[in-house]
Amino acid sequence: MTRSLHPRLQRLDSQFASSPLQQIVEAELTRQRLELWVKRDDLLHPIISGNKWRKLKYILNHALLLGADTIVSMGGAYSNHLHALAFAGKALGVKTVGFIRGEKPARFSPTLLDLQEWGMALRFVSRSEYRQLRAYKTHDSLPHLAPGQYWLPEGGATEFALQGVAEIIDEIDQAFDVLVVACGTGTTLAGLIAAAPLETQLLGIAALKGAEYLTLEVQQLLKQAHSEVCHWQILHHYHGGGFAKSTPALDHFMQQFQTKHDVPLEPVYNGKALFAIDDLLKKGVFKAGQRIIFLHTGGLQGARGNT
Ligand SMILES: *Cc1c(COP(=O)(O)O)cnc(C)c1O
Repeated sequence: MTRSLHPRLQRLDSQFASSPLQQIVEAELTRQRLELWVKRDDLLHPIISGNKWRKLKYILNHALLLGADTIVSMGGAYSNHLHALAFAGKALGVKTVGFIRGEKPARFSPTLLDLQEWGMALRFVSRSEYRQLRAYKTHDSLPHLAPGQYWLPEGGATEFALQGVAEIIDEIDQAFDVLVVACGTGTTLAGLIAAAPLETQLLGIAALKGAEYLTLEVQQLLKQAHSEVCHWQILHHYHGGGFAKSTPALDHFMQQFQTKHDVPLEPVYNGKALFAIDDLLKKGVFKAGQRIIFLHTGGLQGARGNT
């Protein structure tokens, strides 16, 4: 699938190669005649977190083609999204502004320090103001945007994000039955659903507690894809107590998995999603002969100084 990229974006895009697929070998998988592979989008780029680049690529293209000189977005103090945006903005020569949830902290997180260094203008907003910003869903919908400013909703949840996520499916060069991914806003999941072969099954693992609204949000994003979609489902009981929370069982599982398979994990998204796969496996949910692919979305920068 080739779409015309703005020349400045083409230069940045050339830093990205396709990410490898790594097979996970475990006795339990062999016993159940299952295959598990990890699509290592955590290895996509040394700085930009995996699924954040996938989502940003065609959003940035849209902004550049419109002639935008500034991209304004929102996120938390450990946001992988803002981190990717600030780095990409600097590389592209586009100014960036980030609305950060909560009061300005006395000590900046490693993420905030990077945002500052890469020239993102930081605007700290109260939690209620932050929630209000979620109402603005399109690039020109934020009130008081200056000419040349492009608004990017939380998590990059727009139709342009789905186009970049579809390239993950293009890169997977073997047939598969089940594809599993962690969900924050559900945008990555929506992109995968829109692009995956119809006979595949898509499974999203919610990282947030009480995220039942996600199904509707994914459905709304999918409407823009205008295609028949494969079977999909979001599981809501693997959040481990809430966003960025963990449990001793999750910590233990992550430690073991990382050591055994040499796949680095963070507890916010990918740790939980793999823990869910492990649990489903033990419960015998997968059918013998199935090939399962887990999309590792990256996010390791967000775990710095946070553990
Ligand atoms: C943002 C993020 C997600 C969630 O992606 P959504 O498209 O918002 O669902 C998953 N994993 C990592 C590492 C992330 O940074």
